[in-house]
Amino acid sequence: MSYLVLARKHRPATFSQVVGQEHVTATLAGAIASGRVAHAFCFTGPRGVGKTSVARILAKALNCQQGPTDQPCGVCVHCREIDEGRAVDVQEIDAASNSRVEDVRELREVIRFRPQSARHRVTILDEVHMLSKAAFNALLKTLEEPPEHAVFILATTDAHKVPLTILSRCQRYDFRRLAPRVLTEHLAGVCQAEGFDLPPESLALLAREADGSVRDSLSLLDQVLSVGRQGLRHQDVVQLLGLIDHEMVWRTAEAVLAADAGQVLELVSRVYAAGGEMQAFYGALMEHFRNLAAAKSAPPGADLFGLTAEEIAELSRQAQAHSPETLHEIFDHLAAGEEMFRRASQPRLVMEMTLLKLTQVRPVLALDEIITRLAAGAEAPGQAVPRAVADPQPAAVQSPSVQPAAAKAMPSPETALRQLAEFVGRGEPVFGSYLARAVAAGRGDGLAITMPPGPAARYCNAEHEAKLSAAAADLWGAPRAVSLTPGREEPPPPPTRQTLEQVSGVAEHPAVRVAMEVFEAEVVAINPIEQK
Ligand SMILES: [Zn+2]
Repeated sequence: MSYLVLARKHRPATFSQVVGQEHVTATLAGAIASGRVAHAFCFTGPRGVGKTSVARILAKALNCQQGPTDQPCGVCVHCREIDEGRAVDVQEIDAASNSRVEDVRELREVIRFRPQSARHRVTILDEVHMLSKAAFNALLKTLEEPPEHAVFILATTDAHKVPLTILSRCQRYDFRRLAPRVLTEHLAGVCQAEGFDLPPESLALLAREADGSVRDSLSLLDQVLSVGRQGLRHQDVVQLLGLIDHEMVWRTAEAVLAADAGQVLELVSRVYAAGGEMQAFYGALMEHFRNLAAAKSAPPGADLFGLTAEEIAELSRQAQAHSPETLHEIFDHLAAGEEMFRRASQPRLVMEMTLLKLTQVRPVLALDEIITRLAAGAEAPGQAVPRAVADPQPAAVQSPSVQPAAAKAMPSPETALRQLAEFVGRGEPVFGSYLARAVAAGRGDGLAITMPPGPAARYCNAEHEAKLSAAAADLWGAPRAVSLTPGREEPPPPPTRQTLEQVSGVAEHPAVRVAMEVFEAEVVAINPIEQK
């Protein structure tokens, strides 16, 4: 008995057996059940996800003796012939090797005749993007006026290479890569049906390696099973396929992030000893850092490259202690070194040096964290810091002091204003940003705020004063009287000797020095803090 490769043996025979393309199969089945079948379909999507399989199922659904039906019987003469690839009325053409206009003209001649025994003449044009321009034009003519009995199913991995005039004549169905979890479950089902056992982590590895392609995952499984069917351990599978163990990638990334050079070298040597391809390992590391950065930045529940929720949670855990900037920088280093790595005669050495360099990447602070720290510095007692450079952007600071609390003393007018600006700015960012540029003075137990000159004046009214008063109650436990006055436009005074001396003096302040260094900034203005 000859061995039938798994991809053929486990090819889906009905719409419901197709894995991971429910959005396509449900729509097609619905169209057939309701008798609304188009003359031309275009199936797009990556290789090995079921385009041709679904095309054959569609052909069976149309031509089954029990049909047209969304559940082809699989036993009638038409179903069997289509399954075996010998149905005269169902033609499968590889457009890559039949790309000339003559081929399409020939096809048009055949199409004109009624089907010999079945209901429809179905033409499956695989890799249709390979057709020449003239061939596309010839095909277009047929699609514009198809014979009543003709059905075209175009399949392509590169929909963007198919002319829009063609696409617009087709019902288009986009096939997707399978999520690793779906693919893993499918592989587990195949293993069970075949009566052999593989460790779950091996199945997950095959699924990941196949990059969402059912066909590729099954052919990897074929390779594994060609060696033996029982008692395979995970490391056997890894070694057998020359794959990179995800666990090793994870641990190497961990060592890089921990700046543990010794551990990094140890892990590289273990991957090498296990027969791991340095090239593949490098690629896997790059992908891992991309995933880390994405997991760090993406909102919860976002779809990340088909990763499972567990994988995203695992990535988030590893990324937790590191800023997105650090992760981006490591990725950038890896991407920049990729070309050199590819040309290296001793990839292992280049790999080691690159990773050692990565352990030297200093943690990069996120911008809002820098601002928070600068602001914290400005809060320190006895340090008069010019607000022009030290003031934080509103809403960028998550200071615990702004949480609602029992009645307590209002801080200094400057701090009070900044906290108000931040608090109000969450709901009204424009108002908040004007407040952040306003000037405050104490008045009784309340606050007199002078808004910046210009359009901010429209906030100087009772309504906004009441809002600030209420915000004060949230911040400091009791409402305060707050007045808002429009600022006056004043021409800037010419620089005097005194201001120049102030500039050089201020530039020496530690907090200002840090700010100038971080932002590569210089002092351009000094606004003294008004004290009561
Ligand atoms: Zn049938």
